[in-house]
Amino acid sequence: MKIKADLIKRVSLKITGKPAEKKLAFAAVVTDSRKEMDQSLFIPIIGERFDGHQFIEQAVENGAAGSLWQKDKPIPASVKYKIPFFLVEDTTEALQDLSVEYLKEVSPKVIGVTGSNGKTTVKDMLEAVLSNTFETFKTQGNFNNHWGMPLTILSMPKTTEVLILEMGMSGLGEISFLSKLATPDLAIITNIGESHLEQLKTRENIAKAKMEIIDGLKENGTVIVDGDEPLLMPLLESGALGCGYSNTCDYRITDVKSGNEGSSFVIEPANEEYALPLLGKHNVKNSVYSIVAAKRLGVTNANIKQGLSSLKLTNMRLERFEGINGSLLINDAYNASPTSMKAALETLSSLEGYSKKIAVLGDMYELGENEVILHRNIADAVSPSITKVITVGEKGKWIADGLNEKSKQDVPVLSFIDKNKAAEALKSELGNDTAVLFKASRGLELETIIKQVTN
Ligand code: ATP
Ligand code: MG
Repeated sequence: MKIKADLIKRVSLKITGKPAEKKLAFAAVVTDSRKEMDQSLFIPIIGERFDGHQFIEQAVENGAAGSLWQKDKPIPASVKYKIPFFLVEDTTEALQDLSVEYLKEVSPKVIGVTGSNGKTTVKDMLEAVLSNTFETFKTQGNFNNHWGMPLTILSMPKTTEVLILEMGMSGLGEISFLSKLATPDLAIITNIGESHLEQLKTRENIAKAKMEIIDGLKENGTVIVDGDEPLLMPLLESGALGCGYSNTCDYRITDVKSGNEGSSFVIEPANEEYALPLLGKHNVKNSVYSIVAAKRLGVTNANIKQGLSSLKLTNMRLERFEGINGSLLINDAYNASPTSMKAALETLSSLEGYSKKIAVLGDMYELGENEVILHRNIADAVSPSITKVITVGEKGKWIADGLNEKSKQDVPVLSFIDKNKAAEALKSELGNDTAVLFKASRGLELETIIKQVTN
């Protein structure tokens, strides 16, 4: 049993309802009353649309063995004496406090990962390079906010030696809060992009928000950041380790070679060579963050290399598969922002062994008032080695406008609103000398096209 009642008592005012047995402990904490909750502690969260307290009967029916309970809420008579209730001022705060207590008890090394793009990728990479040396546990799915992160902490096994936490945000102050809660030993900022520009207005503000990850950093903790990003200079100047392609980086990447099987590269100044079964210079950089973190934690180079070779990324992130007529399809349509779209285009450009390179690019959402110009500017990232661009969607059309406007631009462009028509046009282009990149925001569902051209 993982979470002892004693731990919960520390964050609650008093216990009421059914008296708690002496050695009461819970296997898990659950906030969704519809879930199976055998031996679990129910935490009724008050959200924007729902109040979890309303579902206590269902929770008890599904096997909850105890519940946190906000003290100003009446407990329904039907369940009052069925389980112990731990009264608290505020269930969300109690969930957070409980996660802090549990974190102290398990006391793993904590790695916090934030950034505009690449958090999940780096989290997966960290697990790959660490899990053959340490008991490792990481954020599942997108449980990366002020509810999700405490729930992640509370779901780690007691044997966890390294905990990898993704920290997400939509405004200032949020990462600071998460960092103070998790007190990371290592903090990573993957990049500063344009996501959340709508809320935060400037890239400077986005950088400020991400830099808050040091607010809770343990004394002697390590900060690892994108060394190519001038906005992160304040951290680099105060000792953060910069990883990237610039000369000033502490871990400088050189000799990137990308092919069908992925990439190989060298890290200077140590002059160490690594292989990565993934495409994309941005993924090379992401892997360097994980390599540097693993080294800090004492993982051997052999284990790091073995870990990288076994890497499996969550779907739709530069995923490669075979299209019709022996073509190569690269699906990066998990999501899109200008930064990640440019990174994906660069990946397509640098691919070796394909004479036809087609980019299928679609709408990018949530870019705020500058969305037209941000789409049009994508044209600058379309290098001459790309042989055709197909845009999809209303906003995607702006990318085509940008390309058509660019002087001396001779990359042919087709624009479609209808995805089936785009798929038809693409089909006629595919051969074994063709590589196709798919990139757009999740909501555009580019996979509708991909399905039609997959082998
Ligand atoms: P979310 O905020 O949606 O959870 P995330 O930060 O977890 O995103 P990932 O899911 O790892 O990011 O990657 C999303 C996309 O971002 C990838 O498909 C890739 O195109 C791009 N990307 C990943 N890493 C970088 C990076 N270091 N720099 C720029 N773009 C990147
Ligand atoms: Mg993510």
